[in-house]
Amino acid sequence: MDIQNVIDYLKAYDGPPIKLMEVCGTHTSSIFKNGIRSLISPKITLISGPGCPVCVTPTAYIDQCIRYAMQENHVLLTFGDMMKVPGTEGSLSDMKGKGAKVELMYSPFEAVEKAERHPDITWVVAAVGFETTAPSYALMMQQAVEKGIRNIRLVTALKTVIPALRWICENQMDIDGFICPGHVSVIIGSKPYEALAREYKKPFVIAGFEAEHILAVIYDLVRQIEKKEAKVKNLYTNAVHTAGNQKALDVLKTYFEPGPAMWRGLGMIENSGLYLKDSSYDGGSRGLVQDMKLPEGCRCGDVIVGRINPDQCPMFKTQCSPMNPFGPCMVSAEGACGIWYRNK
Ligand code: SF4
Repeated sequence: MDIQNVIDYLKAYDGPPIKLMEVCGTHTSSIFKNGIRSLISPKITLISGPGCPVCVTPTAYIDQCIRYAMQENHVLLTFGDMMKVPGTEGSLSDMKGKGAKVELMYSPFEAVEKAERHPDITWVVAAVGFETTAPSYALMMQQAVEKGIRNIRLVTALKTVIPALRWICENQMDIDGFICPGHVSVIIGSKPYEALAREYKKPFVIAGFEAEHILAVIYDLVRQIEKKEAKVKNLYTNAVHTAGNQKALDVLKTYFEPGPAMWRGLGMIENSGLYLKDSSYDGGSRGLVQDMKLPEGCRCGDVIVGRINPDQCPMFKTQCSPMNPFGPCMVSAEGACGIWYRNK
């Protein structure tokens, strides 16, 4: 079916209301940029999922990073989007003003170079992300081990998407289908969604990021829901294969193992975290479970699981903005509130 026919079908849809979740922040962004909502029936609702790893990182993790950054002869390396996430006493950005040694990195491999050049300093890497970024931390570990570098620690808040989707299926029964994340699926493949589709009788379709990709996935999901089907389909075939990226999965498995992880706004989810197997490189990542209550009035917990859209939070665009974020979903470029703020 050509794209105009897809749009005509979706625009004219007049069946029972359908709620679809896009799991990935990049899809949320693309849906806005391409005006996808204006091309589909108001009876089809698109809601954002927990696809921002920074937004779901708990307070105890930020506190642990700050503890290291305040220690003598330790430097914390982090990507920029972690800087404003609130910890108990403040964010990394706040603490930098109070003497915390924090440097921005553009790639985890910088840690290996810096550790080689400055053996008297312990370089602590804030490793946050989903399956998309986790393999680069595994490759970094491989380099460090091969070179015999010992002055590196990783504080990990690496998370896996399938256990979170299972949590959502268990707790959010009113989602009719899922737009599966493209980048994560490149690594894990389409197979891991099959058990979810079978158990929860919901369709899962993998999407690329262009407007026509997303429209094609919405069309497929709507047709499946109308026909009461619950299949896994891969509509991003030039990048995603059934078994995923075996090389990336192998290196991940060599250095990391699954364990329970705390998701800000969701709670503890079994086997949803990735932890270093070699604990001598680990910076105390396990058991970072404490999370402060979200600031009063912040509805991030509801935004992350798609119970409300960001603009339904009373703080949205009033007290909460990317310049002055009130909750974690406004902090990161991939956070649903931040994306809605910039595009709505
Ligand atoms: Fe929290 Fe701000 Fe989003 Fe409201 S708009 S849910 S306060 S991050």
